[in-house]
Amino acid sequence: MKSTSKASSDLQFAIAARQTRLRLEHNDNGTMLLSLADAEGREYLRRPNVLWKIEMINRQQRIVELDMRQSPPKLRNGNDQVRLTWRNVHVGNTAERVTVKAIIHLNEANGEISFRLAVEETPADWSVFRVHFPRLDLAVTPGSQSDCLALPDDRGVLYRDPLSTMPTGGIHEKLRRRPYPHGSFTMQFLALQREDQLLYLAAHDPAGHLKNFFIGPDPENELIYIHPWVDTEIHYGQDWSQPFPWIIRLQRGDWYDAAQIYRKFALTADWTKPGPLVEGRKTPLWYQRIGLVTLRLMRGPAFEDADVIAEHAFMNTPMVCHYYMWHQNAFDAQYPFFFPAVPTFRDTIKKFRDRGIHVMPYINMWSCDTQMPAWEQGLKHSALQITPAGDLDQRVWSQNRPFATFCPAADLPRQISRLTAMRLFEQGASAVYFDEIAMSAAWPCHDTRHGHPAGGGDTFVKSINKTLALVREEAAHARPDPVLTSEGCAEPYIANFDALLYGNGIRDNAIPMFETVYHDHVMAFGRYTWTPELMDPKFAGAIESKHAQQFVFGSQIGWCDIPLSMIIEKSPATAAFLRHLAHTWTHSYDFLAQGRLLRALDLSDQLQPVTRRWAVSWQDAEGMELKLPPILNGVFLRVDGAIGVVLVNITTEAISLTVRLPSPQGMYAQAMKQGTVVQADDATLSHFYPLPQRTGAEIRTLIDDQFHKTIAEGDSERGFDLTINPLSCTIIALGSEKPYGLT
Ligand SMILES: [Zn+2]
Repeated sequence: MKSTSKASSDLQFAIAARQTRLRLEHNDNGTMLLSLADAEGREYLRRPNVLWKIEMINRQQRIVELDMRQSPPKLRNGNDQVRLTWRNVHVGNTAERVTVKAIIHLNEANGEISFRLAVEETPADWSVFRVHFPRLDLAVTPGSQSDCLALPDDRGVLYRDPLSTMPTGGIHEKLRRRPYPHGSFTMQFLALQREDQLLYLAAHDPAGHLKNFFIGPDPENELIYIHPWVDTEIHYGQDWSQPFPWIIRLQRGDWYDAAQIYRKFALTADWTKPGPLVEGRKTPLWYQRIGLVTLRLMRGPAFEDADVIAEHAFMNTPMVCHYYMWHQNAFDAQYPFFFPAVPTFRDTIKKFRDRGIHVMPYINMWSCDTQMPAWEQGLKHSALQITPAGDLDQRVWSQNRPFATFCPAADLPRQISRLTAMRLFEQGASAVYFDEIAMSAAWPCHDTRHGHPAGGGDTFVKSINKTLALVREEAAHARPDPVLTSEGCAEPYIANFDALLYGNGIRDNAIPMFETVYHDHVMAFGRYTWTPELMDPKFAGAIESKHAQQFVFGSQIGWCDIPLSMIIEKSPATAAFLRHLAHTWTHSYDFLAQGRLLRALDLSDQLQPVTRRWAVSWQDAEGMELKLPPILNGVFLRVDGAIGVVLVNITTEAISLTVRLPSPQGMYAQAMKQGTVVQADDATLSHFYPLPQRTGAEIRTLIDDQFHKTIAEGDSERGFDLTINPLSCTIIALGSEKPYGLT
């Protein structure tokens, strides 16, 4: 324990755990966080900011801030914790007062400083409303490529030189207020990399309380502001204590190391309780083995039953058909009502199932059409009220009609979800896709008639999980192995969803953050590819490289806006490549579906990048240019310790290379030989692979849909010499002990 309070004034405090050091001062502005620096004195703050800001609400819906300026905190040192107490804190300019406490735990072993705030002696008419903590204005060097911000937007994004590359202005101003959970803030952590140093900031909240991560660049002041807040449940006259800690930690490392820190927490959260996929307690094996999830988006030419059957015949593998427009309503209208189905739908499902095509109908139980009689006649009483005044969360989708959002705790939408999903399973659907749930922003609901406390808290996440669990339980009456999926990506629902549609954002700076934390716990499918990528020669290689990247991140492929039947017709080589990947998945789902994603190999010393152009949105005919390695790779760890290196050649040339898997044991052996001493920390070990010795490998390839296994030349330390065929995948599979040297 290394906390101290300076005797000079009692108004300055230094708090430290290992590398992480904080300095606080109480002055005329309140209690300020003056400094966040590591033991070598590297400062992470650009300027001081007030340590916390707390908003209170009263029964008349008046919202004020606590004013701590006249209330310097008292510090008490414990064994491995520090307590700060602010007494007689003014409730705005009212006569009321509260006590605020911060309980700060110091973990000397790993350098984590964790904070929990509490508000006590709450006046009878008041409640805590929002708690803003921490408030970090981080110093970032303009133009620096080694200053990077990693955010869990979709699967993950790494902004190099974030002051110029983070989106700003216009709609992005709104987007930067990133609610959690939400497809644009899918986990509760972020990382600022500076050279080889790392700031890890996270909420280790195992229940998914609603939060907002307000994060953005301020180029004028050369800083990134990180100002999250928590929406609390409103309970007048009751004390409040933060039900989870905020964590600040400085160490060596990069975003991958940050993801490993978060993973340790994530494996204690409610949503990983069903266990990893390999134990099969959630996602059925039939779904894990399928590498191909196709999209049947519209009706008519190229989308007829015969087209889907022809796609399946060409692909020659079981597939899941994500099936839109099975209902008679227009798309994006009349939600949440989908029935009646088109009269042929029941026959279509049967015809498909007989051939090994699993039907996964689209439904949307999130949004509610406000322009239909059922809205006025009752549905409006189940809508999410996002302000205490009763404002509805409204959005306009493709049919230009205003949609409200259902409160997930309300009983009516829960009943409609169960009825709709059950009718589909009883008609023979293998899976049901719930649009929006994992993608859309979660907001607090202030309508207590729904049977929940007003405000934030964990009601939202718990209610959605309750609905999904009920759907899953009942669906098992119709078929023993139902699958539920959703749009977007959000951690707190993965105990109930089998697969999530990642890839709503097509970015050149995407990183597999979500997969690094969760790949062995939940599956993923899909990524947008659009018609110009098939038709316009300047996009040559886009479909192949987009799918190959999905594949090495361990996501099922094939989900294209363009019907697969058109790709087969227009570009048979592209379609054959997709078939090759889908078959490879089925032969190696032990890694691709079930494995834990490890750090990808850095092959940049052997491979020159190639240029590709990807379309980035629905109406995009220009796209963006990006550099990719000609061979993409993903490394997966099976639960028994086996390692699979998945290598995909995205070019039309054969490429030879040597693949080394350096192990900690190899490093120690080398050090012993040289008589040097190695003290490897986690950030060093994360660049090695958990192998106990020089290991041989089996090479898995697929030639003309035939699966081959051969013995590789070389070993893991010296390297395996390989030639990867054009537009094809090779997997190096190495046996090992139980995950060795890896926590
Ligand atoms: Zn509600």
